[in-house]
Amino acid sequence: MNGPGGQVPDAETARPELVSVPDGPQAAAADQGTETAWGRQWARQAGGVQVDVAIVGAGGAGLGLVAAIDRLLNAADVPRDVRPPSVVLLDPVHHRDDDRTWCFWDRGLSPVEPAVHRTWNQVAIVDRDGGERRLPLGRLRYVMVRSSDFYALADDAAARLGAVRIPVAVDEVIDGGSWATVRAGGEEIRARWVFDSRPAPPARPARTVLLQHFRGWRVRFNHRALDPSLPVLMDFSVPQPAGGTAFGYVLPSDPFTGLVEYTQFSRTLLSPRAYDDALAGYMVERWGSGGVPGTYTVEGAEQGVIPMTDAAFARRDGKRVMRIGVAGGATRASTGYAFTAMQRQAGSIAADLLSGRRPTPPAPHRARHRWLDAVMLRALDSGGVDGPDLFTRLFERNSAERVLRFLDGAGSPAGDLAVIRSAPKGPMTRAAFADLGARLRLTR
Ligand SMILES: Cc1cc2nc3c(=O)[nH]c(=O)nc-3n(C[C@H](O)[C@H](O)[C@H](O)COP(=O)(O)OP(=O)(O)OC[C@H]3O[C@@H](n4cnc5c(N)ncnc54)[C@H](O)[C@@H]3O)c2cc1C
Repeated sequence: MNGPGGQVPDAETARPELVSVPDGPQAAAADQGTETAWGRQWARQAGGVQVDVAIVGAGGAGLGLVAAIDRLLNAADVPRDVRPPSVVLLDPVHHRDDDRTWCFWDRGLSPVEPAVHRTWNQVAIVDRDGGERRLPLGRLRYVMVRSSDFYALADDAAARLGAVRIPVAVDEVIDGGSWATVRAGGEEIRARWVFDSRPAPPARPARTVLLQHFRGWRVRFNHRALDPSLPVLMDFSVPQPAGGTAFGYVLPSDPFTGLVEYTQFSRTLLSPRAYDDALAGYMVERWGSGGVPGTYTVEGAEQGVIPMTDAAFARRDGKRVMRIGVAGGATRASTGYAFTAMQRQAGSIAADLLSGRRPTPPAPHRARHRWLDAVMLRALDSGGVDGPDLFTRLFERNSAERVLRFLDGAGSPAGDLAVIRSAPKGPMTRAAFADLGARLRLTR
């Protein structure tokens, strides 16, 4: 099924050959979760295309799932008789560009390692007075993945799997007993399992929502402005907006080039011009005369809005339809980071699919972390805590490794407790009570 040169075939040039889907005992067995036994066969039936897996939305989560299935199939310990599932990817957009830069931290080997662009073993935090702290990451590393590399990795994985891309917007996904039906562009596809990452409303509305909104420039300096060994995670020396938190973020690729970003956590977005003005201001603030116009060229830009919310997202939308990615609650509310949780879920789903288990995505974040995030969001949103003070304080009083592991939900209970204790007690307690009150009101 692979196109020339290992390209993933688009549906215009290569439709799935339609499969003869088992009925009777085999279908019943499939219902019990052994579908992969009949694995990778395409068939055409009067009713349309039928596949094992339909991935609706081929962005970070959908493509991460394709990559995870491919990775596990090629793992040394996979039994030889495991056959790859038949997969279709439905998304009107075939992403190939550097539309985003994914960063996260890990202990040394990412599931998408071939797409890793840079790693660092230290980060800097800058307080609101400009005081910079270098923070060694201990056993962790901070990792940068350019989206173009991730998309290419996923394309290669999809090509090896023989997955077919159908470049249409999905109109509807209907759950069913043995099959789910995906309706798109007047066609129907029946799938044993659907993994849907289209934007979706939460299952329980938010009590607090802050927007993490940002714009970054890919900058080339005409002088050695950057320390390639030191990304700046949060630089709070930028002017702080009323009712929000702002910081600069720097990812150096080499002494001359890097991504420089301006981010706010607040309720409202800025005008496009205001992000550029803030970025230009940050360039001067951080690099002085080395950051004035003329000393650098902007070679590209990326922009985004990530809701930081305590809303609850469903991971299942019926028996055969699963929600993944941001739509399935992958975003960690206190940070806006989602990549690690999405790839963790992808690995678990892929393992389930290949071993014939029901592939329900695991909870992206633990309940106690979701609660702590809700409290922190409320404290930030109400102005009860000052964002720069809170984050600076967490990193001053704990090792960076401990804070980052806490933020990934991977900390030990003792480590998590130490992080919680280092937050300002009064405002956090008030926010915890306010959160409890809001929960009680919502359940009435
Ligand atoms: C600019 C930016 C930078 C980010 N950086 C980081 C970071 O550094 N670290 C981190 O952890 N997180 C980061 N995130 C957050 C998160 O990791 C990303 O948003 C990630 O792309 C989410 O993956 P997703 O699959 O849920 O959504 P997306 O990647 O947005 O994918 C959803 C897909 O659904 C498709 N779609 C929409 N409607 C339909 C339809 N009707 N039918 C079919 N397909 C449809 C879209 O075309 C899209 O391809 C960033 C987000 C942005 C926007």
